[in-house]
Amino acid sequence: MDLEKLSHAQSFDGEGLRQWFYLNRRPLPWRENPSPYEVWVSEVMLQQTQVSVVVPYFKRWMTLFPTIRALAAAPLEKVIKTWEGLGYYSRARNLHEGARYLTEHHGGELPNSYDALKKVKGLGPYTIGAILSFAFKEKAPAVDGNVLRVLARYFAVEEPIDKTFVQKEIRTLTAALLPDKEPWIIMEGLIELGALICQKKAQCEICPLKMSCLGRCKAALLPIRSKREKTIHLHRAVAVVHTGQELLLKKGEGGKVMADLHEFPYFDREVNIEKVLGLPLKPQGTLPEVTHGFTKYKAFLYPRLYLAMRKEIKGHIWVPFQEVKNIPFSSGHRRILFSLRNNKLLNI
Ligand code: SF4
Repeated sequence: MDLEKLSHAQSFDGEGLRQWFYLNRRPLPWRENPSPYEVWVSEVMLQQTQVSVVVPYFKRWMTLFPTIRALAAAPLEKVIKTWEGLGYYSRARNLHEGARYLTEHHGGELPNSYDALKKVKGLGPYTIGAILSFAFKEKAPAVDGNVLRVLARYFAVEEPIDKTFVQKEIRTLTAALLPDKEPWIIMEGLIELGALICQKKAQCEICPLKMSCLGRCKAALLPIRSKREKTIHLHRAVAVVHTGQELLLKKGEGGKVMADLHEFPYFDREVNIEKVLGLPLKPQGTLPEVTHGFTKYKAFLYPRLYLAMRKEIKGHIWVPFQEVKNIPFSSGHRRILFSLRNNKLLNI
C-alpha cells in the first residue's frame, strides 16, 4: 500500500461531500432506508445497466417478488421473464439461487456479516459492501466502477484499475475515507459523485472534492486501464421455422451465457440447414439483419422465415404461437421476434 496516498486520506473533505450529496442526490426507489433485499436486488440490476433502465425493472421485481422467500418460491422461468431486456441473465439466475439458499440457511433474510454474505451465489466484494453499508449501516467500502474512477483520480492512481491489486488498494483507500459517524452517507456520496460529476468527462470546477483532489489536473488521463481484449465477430444464419401454428425454438444450455433463454435455431452461414435439422423447409423470405453484442462477441444474425411440417427435432421445442409471448428470449433473437410481430408475418 502506498503510504503517501493513505496519508492523503486525511485531507479528504467528507463534510463537503456530505453536503453536496444531500443537495444533489437523485431520488431512487431503493435509496430511502432500503431493506437488505432491496439493496441486493438494486445493486445486482445496476451492474452493467443504467439507472434509468433499472428503475422500472426494480419496481416490477419488487411487486412480483416482494421478499426473498417470494423470490425463492417463484419458478425460474418467471424470474428470467421478469429480467428480460436487462441482459446478463446470470444475474437473475444468481438472485434466484441466492434467494433459495437464504431461505434454506438464513430464514429468508440476508445475514449481516461479510463471510456469511460471501457464500450467497453471485455476491462479490462490491455488492457485499453495498449491503453492509446501505442496509446494515456499517463502515464498509463498496467500490463499484464509479468509485474506482473517482478514487483513482482523487488519489492520482497511475496503475490500471482493472488489475485486482489496484482494486484492492482502492478498497483500502475507500475504507480510510469513511468516518465512524454515518459512513454510509460518504459511501453513497462517492458513488453519486462518480455518476453525476466525476464522470468519464470530469466536471472538476463544480466538484466538492476539487480542493484536495490529486488527479484534478489530469482527470482526462485517469483512470488507466489495461488494453482491451479484441471483439470477436460471429455471423449466423437464423432459421425462423413455423408450421402456421407453432414456432421451432431451442433453449440455451445450462451453464452457458444464454442458459434458460430461448432462441431460434441458428447455424454457421455455410451450413445446409435442412440437412442439419433433418426437416424439409419451404423458404418464405428474409427478415432484417440483427446485430447484438455480448461479452467479447458481436453477433450478426441473418434471419430467414421457413414453413415446415411438424416433426420432433432433438434439442428443440415447438411452441404454439399464443404461448410465445410468455417465453424469455435472448436479446438478439427477441429483436427477430419483434420484427416478425411488427411486420405481421406470423400471428404471435
Ligand atoms: S476534482 Fe475532478 S477529478 Fe477530482 S474527484 Fe472531483 S471531478 Fe473527479
